[in-house]
Amino acid sequence: MARYTGPVCRLCRVDQKKLMLKGARCKSDKCPINKKRPAPGKDPKVRPGKRSNYGTQLREKQKLKRIYGMQEKQFRLFFERALRMTGITGENLFVILERRLDNVIYRLRFAVSRQQARQLVLHGHVLVNGERVNIPSYMVRPDDTVEIGESGKNLVIIKDALKEFGRAGVMPWLSVDPDAMKGRFLAVPRRGDITDLADIKEQMIVEFYSK
Ligand code: SF4
Repeated sequence: MARYTGPVCRLCRVDQKKLMLKGARCKSDKCPINKKRPAPGKDPKVRPGKRSNYGTQLREKQKLKRIYGMQEKQFRLFFERALRMTGITGENLFVILERRLDNVIYRLRFAVSRQQARQLVLHGHVLVNGERVNIPSYMVRPDDTVEIGESGKNLVIIKDALKEFGRAGVMPWLSVDPDAMKGRFLAVPRRGDITDLADIKEQMIVEFYSK
């Protein structure tokens, strides 16, 4: 399936949830969700009908897939990998999504969105343990160092991201030195640690793919 190239705020409006796809705008009053704009194509005066079980599961899967900026085929592969791991599949899915290199770059505040982080990785600005890695889905391991290489040190988008988002700190399974543009993936997070996505019902995603 082709990558979605339309307006990303529309994706948030479909689910009426902030998927945080646009960096600084997501935290501003300009965010259409903050402005309570209705789902596209829906008359706000008409009450939405009840969603089927399948529809609810589908929406939950779409949300998580879009948050991590993935296409269906790759997301499905991640799910199958989570299924083969020991433990609870839904929680495993979160763990491996969080280990993606583009996600780690975003979480370290070197980019304002996962999409921007993905570009930084693809353009070769990211080093893992001192080696250049240009694969956004690369799985970061505990104790890996993740940093911006010399080619990216002067990029305005990274400086702006650190200025804009650096104040918020990083998730507890990461540490960062913003001046050196260097971070460390301390440990694999548990599902409960991923507090900003606490409202995602991963069990529904498991049910969706189990049909
Ligand atoms: Fe979603 Fe961000 Fe657009 Fe708001 S500004 S609708 S959170 S992408």
